[in-house]
Amino acid sequence: QPNRYVQYEVTRFGQNDRLLIAYDITRLHQLEQIRKDFVANVSHELRTPLTVLSGYLETFASNEELPPKWARAFKQMEQQATRMSNLVNDLLMLSRLESDNIKQEHKAINMTHLLEQLRLDAQAYDPEKQHAILVNIDSPLRLLGTENDLRSAFLNLITNAIKYTPACGAITIRWSNDEKYGYFSVQDNGIGIEPQHIPRLTERFYRVDAARSSATGGTGLGLAIVKHVLLQHKGILNINSKPNIGSTFTCVFARESLVD
Ligand code: ADP
Repeated sequence: QPNRYVQYEVTRFGQNDRLLIAYDITRLHQLEQIRKDFVANVSHELRTPLTVLSGYLETFASNEELPPKWARAFKQMEQQATRMSNLVNDLLMLSRLESDNIKQEHKAINMTHLLEQLRLDAQAYDPEKQHAILVNIDSPLRLLGTENDLRSAFLNLITNAIKYTPACGAITIRWSNDEKYGYFSVQDNGIGIEPQHIPRLTERFYRVDAARSSATGGTGLGLAIVKHVLLQHKGILNINSKPNIGSTFTCVFARESLVD
């Protein structure tokens, strides 16, 4: 039937027999669509009031005549409003990536330029930590994709590496390829991740250590965004990590996404 979603399951019996079960998942699909629309609408509606709040709070917080108690309160309010704005922006980005209607145009991206920009962003992110940030470009190939989305995804991996690595760490950003794939990777020698958490890291709001993560100012949506950007590019995310040794996050792209 048209407009119905069906999921099939095949079970084998002995050598030749098969049982085919068809599930009608149309209702499930509709509910999922309602959830996506709801999140997109709420995020959109929150944007304007948050912009107004942030604007006023920024003005108040920078007023040097305020008594210290008030100054501290305004500073905190401003920080929390910024956090909410980041959350809303991340939710809107996820909604856009999930929606089937909006397909972005793919162009050939010069990875040398992109990695140079990412190096500057990485150096500006938390200079007090004094990380050594290395960039290795081992492939001359360009990547076919949506530059803004890929840059956000790559930057999420880089800022995570900075956040979850204690001061004076080493972070390596690399672009390479072999015959079959292109690889964008970010390696750090930070706190690492216990193996049981790794399969769940790309779920929305999943955090290994909620207390530590919220102190670092993340939204808990970064890796969900990375996963969805990669889905749009037929890529996958590989996570390799050892507690107290470090992590490597690698975006793997198929050869057909690479051009000379
Ligand atoms: P957050 O905003 O909390 O950083 P993410 O979705 O980007 O959210 O990451 C999810 C969780 O994965 C983080 O809370 C953190 O526990 C873990 N994580 C991500 N990157 C790293 C890394 N480079 N080293 C250690 N842990 C990491």
